[in-house]
Amino acid sequence: AQDLLLQAQKMEALGQVVSGVAHDINNVLAAVQGAFAILGKRVGDEQLRFVIEQGHRAGDRAGAIVRQMLSFARHEPVRPRVLRLQDVLPPLETMLCHAIGRRHRCSLMVAEDCQPVLADPHQLDVALLNLAINARDAMPTPGVLAIRAANDRDGRVRISVTDSGIGMSEHVLERAREPFFTTKGSAGTGLGLAQVHSFAATAGGLVEMRSTLAQGTTVSILLPPSAVELTDVTRVAVPSE
Ligand code: ADP
Repeated sequence: AQDLLLQAQKMEALGQVVSGVAHDINNVLAAVQGAFAILGKRVGDEQLRFVIEQGHRAGDRAGAIVRQMLSFARHEPVRPRVLRLQDVLPPLETMLCHAIGRRHRCSLMVAEDCQPVLADPHQLDVALLNLAINARDAMPTPGVLAIRAANDRDGRVRISVTDSGIGMSEHVLERAREPFFTTKGSAGTGLGLAQVHSFAATAGGLVEMRSTLAQGTTVSILLPPSAVELTDVTRVAVPSE
């Protein structure tokens, strides 16, 4: 599972770089094509018009290549669904606890009255796996991992992952969510927490991190409860206009 995750993280990063570059080139191209269009209208000289025409065509070809790159790099579409965490989290327990290894104690608990959330289930799986793997990496000696989901006092849904590991210094805590920030050298990608943040943001929520050196870390994903009734799943797919 970890190799797959590493691969997915690298592809995601590559996709982001490619689509970022493609967008930038697209903007520059729009300016160049605009200039050619103006020149084409104003210049009377036959030979110059031919040169301008050639330039314009080359720009069109570049535009087609950029569009191809963009469609290649475009992320998997996010498919949010109304999720009952009581249903979707317990089946992940075996996988998550397996990922951190047998020597740690590991538990997953979902409050019975936990409200449903609107989120992409695949992204949620990956986010929890990222957090579990970070917890494992933070616990060189046997420790405890606790995954919990419950309503918090502010009416949000809190999914928290707590470990009893080495914790983070203030400096690391501050930078941890930055893409490519890692303290694990070549063993890390620095994309785990970035994915967790992007998952939470996409679902309309946020991430809270608390950490104490030599004591442990809790990363919480806070999500708004889904406004849609669970029996009303058809309405989720319909744009709200
Ligand atoms: P990676 O795990 O590949 O380094 P992440 O974005 O998941 O990338 O994490 C970035 C950094 O944040 C890690 O290298 C580590 O220093 C720190 N970190 C993340 N989670 C924890 C944790 N549970 N305990 C201690 N440090 C952590």
